[in-house]
Amino acid sequence: MTVRTSDIEKAAGVLRAGGLVALPTETVYGLGADAENAAAVARIFQVKGRPPAHPLIVHIGAAEQLDEWVEDVPEAARLLAERFWPGPLTLVLRRGRRVPLEATGGLETVAVRVPDHPVALALLSAFGGGVTAPSANRFGSVSPTTAGHVGAELGEAVDFVLDGGPCEVGVESTIVDVTGDVPSILRPGGVTREDLEAVLGRPVAVPAASRVRVPGQHPSHYAPRARVVLVEPERVVAEAELAQEFGHQVGVFLPPSVADTPVKAHAVVAVPTSMGAYARGLYGFLRELDQRGCDLIVASLPAEEGLGLAIANRLRRAAGPRSSSATGLQEP
Ligand code: AMP
Ligand code: MG
Repeated sequence: MTVRTSDIEKAAGVLRAGGLVALPTETVYGLGADAENAAAVARIFQVKGRPPAHPLIVHIGAAEQLDEWVEDVPEAARLLAERFWPGPLTLVLRRGRRVPLEATGGLETVAVRVPDHPVALALLSAFGGGVTAPSANRFGSVSPTTAGHVGAELGEAVDFVLDGGPCEVGVESTIVDVTGDVPSILRPGGVTREDLEAVLGRPVAVPAASRVRVPGQHPSHYAPRARVVLVEPERVVAEAELAQEFGHQVGVFLPPSVADTPVKAHAVVAVPTSMGAYARGLYGFLRELDQRGCDLIVASLPAEEGLGLAIANRLRRAAGPRSSSATGLQEP
């Protein structure tokens, strides 16, 4: 997928004028604004329907620019930036004066990353500044992994959409808070805990709940319209068929371990064996089952290691607090 230089220039112009640009990254599509323009940043919240106290990620063009955006860069942050940027890792650091409080939800810390996508990097280079961008979807819903998803969800509300093809990683970045003594994962994502620990040479904390408000940690987030119910892999087929008999339009995430089992359901997605392929496809699968008219999705959690940690996190949020009633299906 190639994007014309004229489109990059046009998008950079939109950012300079205080407009909003949807841009591809390797994780998901972002809804970008000039990070230093408080009014433009405020429009992001309006378009997403996102509560204003939720901090955004500032995207920059290269690791060398980090010092321009933050107050203090501890050794752990340098090591991680060196190893994983450009890439799906976001570092939370002390806010530099350049970053308006609108972009940090009023916090004295700021989340920063260098995205690993040629179109995002070309835009950052043409624009010259930082681009603050949450995922380009309405607050709480499934993140977009194609330009088509962005159009379907936000339509005219975005001033310009750069189409860089489907996202390679498919789930959001790993957010690591490096302001404390022990680096801690605020949100699992495209860079695994194992990779972080290998580079730092020490354990990384994964707190159950973070101190700050993190939208990715809302009980219900990344959620399709259909209700998502999580069961053990070997129960997926039986629970799906039962719900279908009870009159639901059931969508099934069929785990690899039972891939050959026939299922009587409304729609079936075969879960890829590779965690990379699963992460890449996850949000598209949820959208597809919505589109096919499912009102209930039965799925199971992958093993919570490597990318499986991020996938399980998103599935739990997708299931949110909504999945505990109605059909009597059990959550694990
Ligand atoms: P989204 O924009 O929905 O992909 O989410 C961006 C993520 O970055 C959210 O989970 C934010 O809460 C998180 N984030 C941004 N800034 C900070 C910060 N200063 N401290 C903690 N988390 C942050
Ligand atoms: Mg989001």
